[in-house]
Amino acid sequence: MTERSLAEPRKLIFAANWKMNHGPAEARRFAEKFLALTAPAENRNLWFFPPAVSIGALCQAMGNRPDVRVGAQNVHWETKGAFTGELAIPMMVEVGAQVVLVGHSERRYLFGETDEQVARKTTAALGAGVTPLVCLGETLTEREGGRTEHVIVRQVGAVLQALEPSDWARVVLAYEPVWAIGTGKNATPDDAAQVHELIRMELGRHSVTARVPILYGGSVNTGNVASLLTRPQLDGVLVGGASLDPNGWADLLEKGSNAKVRPSGWHGTIDG
Ligand code: PEP
Repeated sequence: MTERSLAEPRKLIFAANWKMNHGPAEARRFAEKFLALTAPAENRNLWFFPPAVSIGALCQAMGNRPDVRVGAQNVHWETKGAFTGELAIPMMVEVGAQVVLVGHSERRYLFGETDEQVARKTTAALGAGVTPLVCLGETLTEREGGRTEHVIVRQVGAVLQALEPSDWARVVLAYEPVWAIGTGKNATPDDAAQVHELIRMELGRHSVTARVPILYGGSVNTGNVASLLTRPQLDGVLVGGASLDPNGWADLLEKGSNAKVRPSGWHGTIDG
């Protein structure tokens, strides 16, 4: 991944989290169809997070499409050792991965990942030259209890504590309200924009560049992607269910890419 000049406009990021779907053969089939349906576009980059076993196959099948990055859904912060069932960052890099999802809510809430572990994984990814996409988000109980701000500040705070301000030039965040993931209930563009502003304010309080891309995730689909992405606070989307079918994903990309007019003077360093 090349770091571009600050003078170039930042591209949108469309990230596909396949969760525990699409083994290597299915990943290859997806890529073949998808590549025939889409061409690289100036204003966007496409990140794919297949299951670990499909990373190599997907990297190969995507060939040298300059707009595509493939990554792991989860990694360990250690590079090797007695950690049964875990994936080391150098191993995923060896098969072609360039990005990693960190702190997805399914990791946090189903597998007990803590804020501290999220911070360690983020640091380890950066140390290995891999771009972390760090997920933040509150549960329904937390939202209904008026604790959204507290939870988001705590989650981003753990990462802020672990990184130097300059590290943030290589970090991407995603706001993913847990109550909206896989439920069909997406946050309204207003809800999302409000939390994105809160995150950006918190980064600013710690002297972190305003150029950190912040994506939104949670039941994004072809019907709502355009209205979400018209908000200037959103720099892209992280999509689960609606990223699994190549036709649907290509359609979502078109609708999302056409919706976004980047404000002038808004620049970034991640993937251009
Ligand atoms: C996700 O897995 O990060 C996600 C947002 O899932 P879905 O789009 O299915 O809600």
